[in-house]
Amino acid sequence: MRVGVIGTGHVGLVTAVTLADAGHDVGAVDVDPEKIETLRRGEVPFYEPGLPELLDEQVSAGRLSFEREPAAVLPGAEVVFICVGTPSNPDGEANLAVVEHAAADIARYADDGAVVVGKSTVPAGTADRIRATFEHDRPDAAFPLVSNPEFLREGTAISDALEPDRLLVGADDARGFDAMRRLYAPMLERGVRLIETDVATAELSKHASNAFLALKISYANALARICELVGADVDAVTDVMGSDPRIGPAFLGAGLGYGGYCLPKDVAAFERLAERLGYPFPMLAEVARINDEAVRAVVERLRDEVRELSGSRVAVLGLSFKPETDDVRLSPALALASRLLELGAEVVGFDPRAGANAKAELPQMRIASDPYDAADRANAVVLATDWAEFRDLDLARLRNAVAAPVFVDARNTMDGRAVAGAGFAYVPVGKQPLRPEA
Ligand code: NAD
Repeated sequence: MRVGVIGTGHVGLVTAVTLADAGHDVGAVDVDPEKIETLRRGEVPFYEPGLPELLDEQVSAGRLSFEREPAAVLPGAEVVFICVGTPSNPDGEANLAVVEHAAADIARYADDGAVVVGKSTVPAGTADRIRATFEHDRPDAAFPLVSNPEFLREGTAISDALEPDRLLVGADDARGFDAMRRLYAPMLERGVRLIETDVATAELSKHASNAFLALKISYANALARICELVGADVDAVTDVMGSDPRIGPAFLGAGLGYGGYCLPKDVAAFERLAERLGYPFPMLAEVARINDEAVRAVVERLRDEVRELSGSRVAVLGLSFKPETDDVRLSPALALASRLLELGAEVVGFDPRAGANAKAELPQMRIASDPYDAADRANAVVLATDWAEFRDLDLARLRNAVAAPVFVDARNTMDGRAVAGAGFAYVPVGKQPLRPEA
């Protein structure tokens, strides 16, 4: 099938590459000319494991091309995917200006009958707005509308897209369902579950899922605060909870909280949607409040150890919003670094991939070349994003580098006894610190 993809960011590029891998003829367009030039050179503009190899394979096979103009991609496409960003307005409402822009391009250039698929995360009811744009801009044409929300996670995007837990397709027209079944036929043949619903149900399911994931994380962080007060161990509590199959262990890690391009804005947009519909959902505001508090709680743990943050040097290990990505959008690690800078600390950061992006966001932070350079003469080390390689840190070398042996594990990821054994005060989240062995 001929497929057009609008937007070549984390979702659009992965969609384009995996649909080409399924044998379709894919043209992708982006308003950012630099991005298109980078892609045409065969490079991926961000870090995502496995993506450069698959991109190279599909471009070489002649199934995938990148264009700067929608007129080069949309005419002749049987299916058009909208994969553009849906950022937050200052009041938390989803900003749909770019989605509207994509809809106007489709109305202008796509063939009558092209199936239009929304992959961007949008509030329920957005398809009606897109339909209104089509009716206004192109009253003579009919574009069947589909909602096919994306559930990939940055860092594992390729395997998530090739082997999804389920495919969700919302449509209100047999042509929409039929096109999506043909498009995803290779996955359906492999046994991937297809859930077919109406459009509003599909749109809502994405916000409902992301808000629930955020809620689980905030629940764990609220527990962490209570554990600190009562002298309990939050990891043990969430282990007990998570071994109950009715609860499950995922997304129950206490730490610095959630961040990135999805959960914070989706929680806010879902809250605004509920309010606008006349069913205020204050639990969502509470989820966001507990999340903000998670960063403040780590600053307090740090202050308990260092006493005077102003003038102290703090090494922040891990700057991306989660491991295996260079994405720093709403990264809790950067929120922490920014707060420490406000309090007068000197912050030296290190990240295996996200150093340059972090520096662009927070120019006052020095970026070190490795964890030991970051820890050089530091008054405290904070592990802020749990890249797997930090678990193999040479703790003796780290201990020799620092000015004061304080290790705050804001992701509860290290072997605390080993850290304390190397001579650090080991300060996790939601449980008691371990003091260095004499
Ligand atoms: P992104 O910022 O990485 O990519 C968006 C792309 O759209 C950019 O390259 C931008 O230049 C391009 N663009 C903007 N206006 C355009 C236009 N008029 N025409 C063509 N291209 C245009 O965003 P993303 O992370 O890919 O997210 C896209 C959507 O998918 C959002 O709604 C997001 O919530 C959702 N989503 C993201 C993830 C994720 O992990 N990043 C996961 C699931 C869903």
